[in-house]
Amino acid sequence: MLAPEVETLAWAEQLRLDDAAYQRQIAYLLAQSRFYRSKLERAGFARPNEIGGLEAIGDLPLTEKSEIRASCSDADPMGTHVAVRRDEIVRVYSTSGTTGTPSYIPLTAQDLDNWVTASARSYSASGVERGEMIVSTYNAGPFAAGAALGAFDRLGLCHVPVGTGNTERLMTTIRMLEPTAAVMTPSYASYLAEWASDRAFDLKGSSVRRLLVAGEPGGGEASMRARLEEAWGARVTEAMGIGDIGVSLWGECEERNGMHLGARGFVHAELIDPESGAHLGMEDGAKGELVLTHLRHQAAPLLRFRTRDHVEIYTSPCRCGRTAPRLRCIGRTDDMLIVRGVNVFPSAIREIVNEFAPDIGGQIMVKPDAVGVKQAPPLPVLVELAKGKYEESGLAEKIEKRIRDALVVSTRIDLVPWGTLQRSEYKSKLVQH
Ligand SMILES: [Zn+2]
Repeated sequence: MLAPEVETLAWAEQLRLDDAAYQRQIAYLLAQSRFYRSKLERAGFARPNEIGGLEAIGDLPLTEKSEIRASCSDADPMGTHVAVRRDEIVRVYSTSGTTGTPSYIPLTAQDLDNWVTASARSYSASGVERGEMIVSTYNAGPFAAGAALGAFDRLGLCHVPVGTGNTERLMTTIRMLEPTAAVMTPSYASYLAEWASDRAFDLKGSSVRRLLVAGEPGGGEASMRARLEEAWGARVTEAMGIGDIGVSLWGECEERNGMHLGARGFVHAELIDPESGAHLGMEDGAKGELVLTHLRHQAAPLLRFRTRDHVEIYTSPCRCGRTAPRLRCIGRTDDMLIVRGVNVFPSAIREIVNEFAPDIGGQIMVKPDAVGVKQAPPLPVLVELAKGKYEESGLAEKIEKRIRDALVVSTRIDLVPWGTLQRSEYKSKLVQH
């Protein structure tokens, strides 16, 4: 364990420390952040003593990414939530906004150090140790994922960056340098498994023993994980972050029953009902949208930020000794469809479909008939057959029945030949309107 004195601290004690940090952060926001001073004042919270501690955080307004974007102007290109002077900022990451204008994420030296600390805890939970060689496949460039790479230095790993879209180079590196760990999106890990199988490359017999996946849901889906572990002959653990708050905030330990909050002490996590916005308790098994609050951030702290990640929380004790709560990402709220009042995540459909391996290949595409979120049943889904498999009578109906039983949603499964759906070397798109 990277920092046992932090990672095994009783959770109640962590919350007590977090409560004090939160109250300092609130006072800082009111003093330094024009965005939050005005937002909180409008909501009737002009002074720290009216806001109270973490136990009352559910009374405060939520922050949407769009509000931050709307606060950007020529005078404030990074947004009015920036709470430091320009000369205190040491790094600016950006995300590619849907409108084409990037949104910027500034960090102070302390912020950046905290990001690396949290990310290092999350990645070390996987069991990867000082001296191991890790090959990375992210084209970090302007993106916050670059800070996660700093965590590998912190852990004393030998880091071999290869980048995305260099499959030949990656496989040559694995063959020649024999790294024991590799980090990538689950989509790319699947793509590489097919690539290797097509070329009789012995991926299973390669040096890679740990596959660290991040960047999208999938690595936590039991059937996808089993397929990846079989193809790679490696143990899969996942990590998850969100650019605006921090990289690899969550990381899975060797017990592999959800990702622990590696950013404990830096970030407070809560759950809300995505429709009503109501605050939900963090009980074992609770499901909802993840909402995150910075506790000791300087450059552009966020309060009750809606991540759009729909997660399940686990608070039962973990045998690894880490006391932080764990979670699994079920899907992105942005991908969610509502079929006759039932919330459906495409990644959840994929998880069920994957149970039909080896008949199916693992690729799916949800093709809603209607524009928007609300859909009438049955929901059309393309499912790729496995390589060399032909449509077998009754398979589509079996998949439809299993999805109906598990997710209470009616689908129309169309089986398509292997290779029909597009593969991704980065993140997979599961819905096509
Ligand atoms: Zn654990």
